[in-house]
Amino acid sequence: MSTADRPNIRAARGTELTCKGWVQEAALRMLMNNLDREVAEAPEDLVVYGGTGKAARSWPDYHRIVASLRSLESDETLLIQSGRAVGIFKTHADAPRVLLANSLLVPKWATWQEHERLAALGLTMFGQMTAGSWIYIGTQGILQGTYETFVACGRQRFGGDLAGKLIVTGGLGGMGGAQPLAATMAGAACLCVEVDPDRIARRLEHKYLMRSTSSLDEALAWLDEARASKQALSVGLEGNCAEVLPELVRRGRIPDIVTDQTSAHDPLGGYVPGGMSLAAARSLRTEDPDEYVRRSIAAMGTHVRAMRDMQDKGAVAFDYGNNIRAYAVEAGVEDAFEIKGFIPEYIRPLFCEGKGPFRWAALSGKPEDIYKTDKAILDLFPEDEALRRWIELAGEQVAWQGLPARICWLGYGERHRAGLKFNEMVRSGELEAPIVIGRDHLDCGSVASPNRETEAMKDSSDAVADWPILNALINTAAGASWVSVHHGGGVGMGYSIHAGMVVVADGSEDAARRLERVLHSDPGMGIVRHVDAGYEEALEFAKRYGVKIPGVTV
Ligand code: NAD
Repeated sequence: MSTADRPNIRAARGTELTCKGWVQEAALRMLMNNLDREVAEAPEDLVVYGGTGKAARSWPDYHRIVASLRSLESDETLLIQSGRAVGIFKTHADAPRVLLANSLLVPKWATWQEHERLAALGLTMFGQMTAGSWIYIGTQGILQGTYETFVACGRQRFGGDLAGKLIVTGGLGGMGGAQPLAATMAGAACLCVEVDPDRIARRLEHKYLMRSTSSLDEALAWLDEARASKQALSVGLEGNCAEVLPELVRRGRIPDIVTDQTSAHDPLGGYVPGGMSLAAARSLRTEDPDEYVRRSIAAMGTHVRAMRDMQDKGAVAFDYGNNIRAYAVEAGVEDAFEIKGFIPEYIRPLFCEGKGPFRWAALSGKPEDIYKTDKAILDLFPEDEALRRWIELAGEQVAWQGLPARICWLGYGERHRAGLKFNEMVRSGELEAPIVIGRDHLDCGSVASPNRETEAMKDSSDAVADWPILNALINTAAGASWVSVHHGGGVGMGYSIHAGMVVVADGSEDAARRLERVLHSDPGMGIVRHVDAGYEEALEFAKRYGVKIPGVTV
């Protein structure tokens, strides 16, 4: 579908309220922003990103949520059950204005088959992570994480320099589309295999991708040239990973790094099997879903077999959080988990400091507001060189999608300072309108996901899911603006439970109090979770910052 044919939902900009308070207004604008045609991958189906991750269950549900937010009082709380408004209760001014539960199933029933059955009856929807919790900000949302991951990999395995190195990966969707820009920001040459030409066109349009072709020979020639001259280059290759990666192995073209971000978490609605055209795959998906899933899982086996072969021949291979290894095991690739996950490899040390993907959006709609917050971040944390490099690169290279927004990884002890500073800037009029602060569910203390965020925990507590629930409860008690609990994000049904939170800086004293509390409790859960699992770094951090942990620090 071309951009012109997409539904034209666009959040209001500026200072005029269409709701009865700024928190409701922020929720409404962020819901609409998730479905903005610049932002969402398939807004006509209410799909925001991540396979079938939706913002509302159906169009009538979307309109009912909009009407509910418009009439919601500032001492009421709206309840959302898998994309449907189901109740409004009187609470109090400091309580969240919206509480959301998306895609949750009783564990024994937590399969894609049961989800599909219920979704077909109109009883549930897949909320992914930030789709159903209304804090998706477009491909930038994963850009810094991907960039930091590539840089960390370069530091650990290539002496700190990715110039002249080749990264091979798959998927140029809502999140995967960050890979080419992250790779070129890190100085590398990157081949991104994507089966859908429309997705390639979208990444070119948004300047996340430099060039594209449907010829593997042409792609390799361009990349060879770039590597020889140590130029950063990204090439989108129209093709299927289950065909292209084995072909690279056959030709002996082993990359320096191999990873993947196709939507493998969903073998029916996401991954596209090899050996057939995209059109044929789409027909098979509706005509014979069982056969589609069989072929899809088999293709993931072929895909991961090729990644393992590349790894055996010297490539650095890591899983990028789409659960492709679990399906490859189903397909008979018994050693799929020899490919390690990116969290234990590169991200967990950051989680031990309560660090994660902190993000904010400007309700004014003005890029200048974000540039001013960029400067505020640099002034607040002048000693952080990596942060400076990131904010400068993002300011130069990230094109806006929907409401202007920024992401940067901040930790415990930092996030509340940023939040309070933004609130002050709204109060003083330096920023034109309030700022919405949130984060991905992929964060330090908000997710249980044994094949991703909690893979290989030191105390083997990978599957303990009390933590994300405690995270949602404490953020609710602390006064976040909206709080969500979801199932299946990132890795699919049965594999994860996770929580989200958003808190609005509207310049008021009340907001300052809420920001101070929430931006401690939320990253604080990351410290507590990692101390409990036995991470020394987290314990030192807890002591230094006075995080109260009964029997440990108090
Ligand atoms: P998306 O559905 O928007 O895009 C997936 C893309 O993969 C699509 O463009 C699709 O055409 C392509 N694709 C599917 N099968 C293919 C194949 N065999 N060969 C080539 N291309 C193929 O999904 P997204 O939002 O980009 O997310 C991608 C995956 O990453 C999902 O599984 C998601 O859950 C996961 N994810 C990871 C992180 C992380 O931090 N690592 C964060 C969010 C999402």
